[in-house]
Amino acid sequence: MSQWDMNNDIERVLYSEDDIAEAAKRVGTELAADYEGRTPVIISVLKGAVLWTVDVMRYMQYAEVEFIDVSSYHGGIASSGEVDLIVDLQTDIAGRDVIIMEDIVDTGRSLKFMMALLEQRGAKSIKVASLLDKKEGRVVDANVDYVGFDVPKAFVVGYGLDYKQLYRNLPYVGVLKQAVYDPEHADLVDTTDITPEH
Ligand code: 5GP
Ligand code: MG
Ligand code: MG
Repeated sequence: MSQWDMNNDIERVLYSEDDIAEAAKRVGTELAADYEGRTPVIISVLKGAVLWTVDVMRYMQYAEVEFIDVSSYHGGIASSGEVDLIVDLQTDIAGRDVIIMEDIVDTGRSLKFMMALLEQRGAKSIKVASLLDKKEGRVVDANVDYVGFDVPKAFVVGYGLDYKQLYRNLPYVGVLKQAVYDPEHADLVDTTDITPEH
């Protein structure tokens, strides 16, 4: 096997490509039923939720899709709690049924920020469909309505989720090897200012 292989950086696979395909079908089918007769606006959260969004929406009927990007700042190993809007929606969502599609909800801060923003802009209803729900990480009130998987408190990558912008294109979700972010093994990746935030 070539050394130039992202799979070598993964400690263990939590959710396989097949597991994820099944979850996308389950959630998409449920959304199709729940939104029958309505045309929701799917709000996909960049960049992590893109793969999940396109897989789930294939099972839905009439739906628009929009993108948003928010960033929560992390000082060292803990989230500071500050959230910023990086990329805004390109459409008016007043009076619309919106579905936020997330890759993972951890502390809940990003989600809480987006919910407040969408409420303030007059969304008629807001639901959340997340690939992963890391419930143990929650520090603010944030509820996920449609869940792919309840994930244990570990730092995961793949299927949209990154470490230093890498691994998003792995077809599965897995736990990164410690060596990848351990400064003593800096030969694997550039780890200069990196500690996983979660
Ligand atoms: P929250 O605002 O809920 O704390 O964090 C949400 C964001 O933190 C996610 O959208 C994601 O970008 C990042 N995050 C939280 N947990 C993980 C994880 O285990 N792996 C990766 N790659 N990102 C995570
Ligand atoms: Mg995200
Ligand atoms: Mg990230």
